[in-house]
Amino acid sequence: MKLEQYGKRLSSPYLRKAMKIHSDVRKFMSDFLKNERDFVEIPPVIISAITDPLNHPTTKSQVQVYGYTYELTKSMIFHKQIAMHALDKIFSFSPNIRLEPTERKKTGRHLIEFTQIDVEQKNASREDVMNLAEDLVIYTIKKLLEKDSDILKSVGRDLKIPTKPFKRIAYAEALKNYGEDFETKLSKEAKEPFWLIDIEITEREFYDREDPTRPGILLDMDLIYPEGFGEASSGGEREYELDQIYKRIAKKGQTPEQFKWYIEFVKKFGLIPSAGFGIGIERFVRFVMGAKDVKDVTLFPKAPGEYYPI
Ligand code: AMP
Ligand code: MG
Repeated sequence: MKLEQYGKRLSSPYLRKAMKIHSDVRKFMSDFLKNERDFVEIPPVIISAITDPLNHPTTKSQVQVYGYTYELTKSMIFHKQIAMHALDKIFSFSPNIRLEPTERKKTGRHLIEFTQIDVEQKNASREDVMNLAEDLVIYTIKKLLEKDSDILKSVGRDLKIPTKPFKRIAYAEALKNYGEDFETKLSKEAKEPFWLIDIEITEREFYDREDPTRPGILLDMDLIYPEGFGEASSGGEREYELDQIYKRIAKKGQTPEQFKWYIEFVKKFGLIPSAGFGIGIERFVRFVMGAKDVKDVTLFPKAPGEYYPI
């Protein structure tokens, strides 16, 4: 993006409205978790020796510090699990850097720098955190409709309060009925957010817990926006048993050395069962505003494969 374009878009009324919504989304999500559910906000981690391997290819972004190599955070999954030793219910507005493949620059959903509200609860089940996420989304939308109805009206957005419980579709059923592109098709058809559950083990990372009663099926879930806005969130129960972690790492063709300090930590201190999820803030704002592209609602957007002067 040219500097001139960059400068011009800053004075657009639409961007100003989006930033007001963005600010209120953060406030209401934080209010809900802190005031209604007793969660503690923890500061984000920016650089670390361990970060999320993710299930899709992203280029590693690293910094050299005092002769050591750190990665920039792709998600706080490992830190959230480890933080369960200190706190029972946590969340963080976690900035993530993911150098997504260039093909993703036109999806309308991908930035290389974004923030997710990353939530984790000790000894919680998938059911508990699905319930929590539904309440969080409903609370935030209700508050936005109370406070920002003028903005939403002015951009022509007729936002509805979703009905609880959100519908659920199992991964295998979605694949069977809609084919490979099930997420896009289901999202386009849907009028309300819905859950995709029981995702297949090959589709996710080793830290998502396998259902002990259904081998190959994970105790995880994705929240999908309606109207074609696509994925809102991923989450689930976490693997906490070391022997399972080893098995799952091997199954992915990875090695424990790739996660050295995480494994060392688990060996010495263990992990506590937990479940959680992360909701991308920019995508949430895009959905609320009914925007075409996540870049349109982001103050300093960076799309995959492009250079931005500021
Ligand atoms: P994940 O754990 O990979 O599902 O990421 C958590 C959430 O962050 C997703 O459900 C999205 O809402 C958001 N997210 C993931 N990748 C991106 C991206 N490249 N740009 C914007 N938001 C993203
Ligand atoms: Mg996901």
